[in-house]
Amino acid sequence: MVVHYARGRLSTPSGEYTFYYPKGIRWGCKMCGACCRDADHRPRRVLLLPSDVARLEKSGEREFKTDVKGEEPFVAEMRRRGGSCVYLTEKGCRVYPNRALLCRTYPFWIERDGDVFEILFDPRCRGMGRGGELKEGFYRDLLLQAIEQRDTT
Ligand code: SF4
Ligand code: SF4
Repeated sequence: MVVHYARGRLSTPSGEYTFYYPKGIRWGCKMCGACCRDADHRPRRVLLLPSDVARLEKSGEREFKTDVKGEEPFVAEMRRRGGSCVYLTEKGCRVYPNRALLCRTYPFWIERDGDVFEILFDPRCRGMGRGGELKEGFYRDLLLQAIEQRDTT
């Protein structure tokens, strides 16, 4: 699949940013829970920022590993059991309001090079191709959420 990227701008109290986002992507979450489980080709690792850890701990949850090294800015990883995140239940995510930033943004994630961000996506998400086309504002909100979370670390 050839994906073209467009350039966006984000202005926040902490600075001016440029970001690149995929054009023409349609997506709507099917709530299938596949992103909370290992896939055939790879384990599902949900890494946690210090702000994720703080939020989960505040709600009394400690089901994550804290011996994660070399994944900065992430400092911990959600535990899995039987190939699924320990927080996945038959009714969905047990810690939904306190879930990690990576859980909130999937199938999108953000890579950074200085003040430039690139928003990438996983084409294997089952919600790809559903719903309306995602516009710049969607990606700007995603980025803003990520910057705010990192700024609270
Ligand atoms: S983000 Fe994708 S994989 Fe995860 S629950 Fe939604 S549709 Fe399923
Ligand atoms: S914390 Fe919730 S949303 Fe995140 S992987 Fe676990 S079950 Fe899924």
